[in-house]
Amino acid sequence: MYRTVGIFLSIFLCTTLLRSPSRAEEPVRVFACEPEWAALVSEVGGEKVKVFSATTARQNPHYVRARPSMLAKIRKAELLVCSGASLEVGWLPILLRRGSADIQRNKLGHLMAADFVETIEKPDRLDRSLGDMHAEGNPHVHLNPFNILLVAEEIHKRLGLIDVGGKAFYQQRYNQFESRWREAIPVWEKKAETIRAKVVIPHHKNMSYMFEWLGLESTLALEDKPGIPPRMSHLKQLITTFGDNKPHLIVRTPYEPSKPSQWLSDKISVPEKVLPYTIGGDVHSEDLFSLYDRMIDLLVN
Ligand SMILES: [Zn+2]
Repeated sequence: MYRTVGIFLSIFLCTTLLRSPSRAEEPVRVFACEPEWAALVSEVGGEKVKVFSATTARQNPHYVRARPSMLAKIRKAELLVCSGASLEVGWLPILLRRGSADIQRNKLGHLMAADFVETIEKPDRLDRSLGDMHAEGNPHVHLNPFNILLVAEEIHKRLGLIDVGGKAFYQQRYNQFESRWREAIPVWEKKAETIRAKVVIPHHKNMSYMFEWLGLESTLALEDKPGIPPRMSHLKQLITTFGDNKPHLIVRTPYEPSKPSQWLSDKISVPEKVLPYTIGGDVHSEDLFSLYDRMIDLLVN
């Protein structure tokens, strides 16, 4: 009896082991919090990764409702790539509790982009009672191309450790991406020279990295403080502050309401534009290269 069970068990184990696909065949399962990180992982990982983006360009990454589809993905994820610096503080911790062991904090599979770049706009004084969502500095780090390089470098290292057999493949893809990206940077900078030092007013401070990189001036926003919806008193104050020095543009993302920027645009006769902000923010922004192309085109023209 025991012998029969033993034989069955051995057969079962052998066939299971034989059937379980090797790492080489199975893509690394990646859970990205935002489309920009999903796109960057795809640049580096190619067909060796299977990437899920928890949000789209139509969603405010500060406020996201955890969906069952997200739970299913995070349970099996081997690598988590998010912005960090509290951008996802309202929804990621809840999901992480149901996530795989590999992607928990301090594990190889836990990657927060803001940990690898220098964040800007750190408040001098912490006061969360004022609704400051950027208490750890600005978490919207993906719109500086040098940040993209730093995060890409970390992504390729992590992928090579999670999938050791694919290490050379990730290295090669990363090298290709890095050289293409480095070639694109001066082209973007050249294109934006005409708008250097111009003033841009965003709805929320979610494009500051791009403005800073391109030498645009952007200290004010339609929101009084990050996370506080634009108030009429603040908008009127902005008009007084500008006086005759009108800004170049008023901008917002596809997920932000149009009313406040349109109101101000009418009052001061300054154009307002929707910038894609991330991959899928408009039909032109299909990957990181075309996103940057499009953002700069819209800022310049
Ligand atoms: Zn924000």
